[in-house]
Amino acid sequence: MSVLPDRISNQDEISYYEDKTWVQCEAPGCLKWRLVTGADLDQDKPWFCNMNPDTLFSHCSVPQGAFPNESHLQKHGLKMVYSLMPVGSFVLVNARCWPRWPAILCPDPNEEEYARLGSDGYVEYYHVEFLGKPHTRYWAAAKYVEPYSIPFKKPHYRTLRGAIKKSYEVAMEEATKVKEMGCQERLEMCHFRPQELLAQAQTLMHSIDRMLKQSPDQTESQVKITD
Ligand SMILES: [Zn+2]
Repeated sequence: MSVLPDRISNQDEISYYEDKTWVQCEAPGCLKWRLVTGADLDQDKPWFCNMNPDTLFSHCSVPQGAFPNESHLQKHGLKMVYSLMPVGSFVLVNARCWPRWPAILCPDPNEEEYARLGSDGYVEYYHVEFLGKPHTRYWAAAKYVEPYSIPFKKPHYRTLRGAIKKSYEVAMEEATKVKEMGCQERLEMCHFRPQELLAQAQTLMHSIDRMLKQSPDQTESQVKITD
């Protein structure tokens, strides 16, 4: 994620940022913002504190400097751009009036895409599958989606009641397993899957089912072959 000039509104402010870019460290336990001068930034690659040419701020343990908020940036003609996180990433989504909810970045079963890019080529929305009971899916604005960070502490939400409270508890329980998984493994546990994959799985299930019915004495070896 980084900040780039959007539209020119105030030349003095722009000149301060000229040749500088705010970049966010993508280490899950860090996520600090660094003001980087004259760096060759490849927006498609992850960025970490140790890539900062400014050696005063080139380590995750160094506290973040003063970082302006998004409305301040907009006022000065700058916009925040978000690095594209890989499909299968484990994230937290900040939705209005909900606690930060754990989710997996996964393709929309209808569109088969997991990210929507704006006209400038940067990600604007992610398709997420929320953990919990039941799993639900949603296109969330990129600014509300952040990598699931290791030091994330379970907050107290006294306002959560009934089914939502139960769902949140299930989600937090699932989260402990999901954070240990790789991206591919996470995609396989998603409930909302592209139709094609679902159809393939169903065909496989049917053929296993048929095999089990046809030859009960050879079942074991045949199932292993299919596997
Ligand atoms: Zn860092």
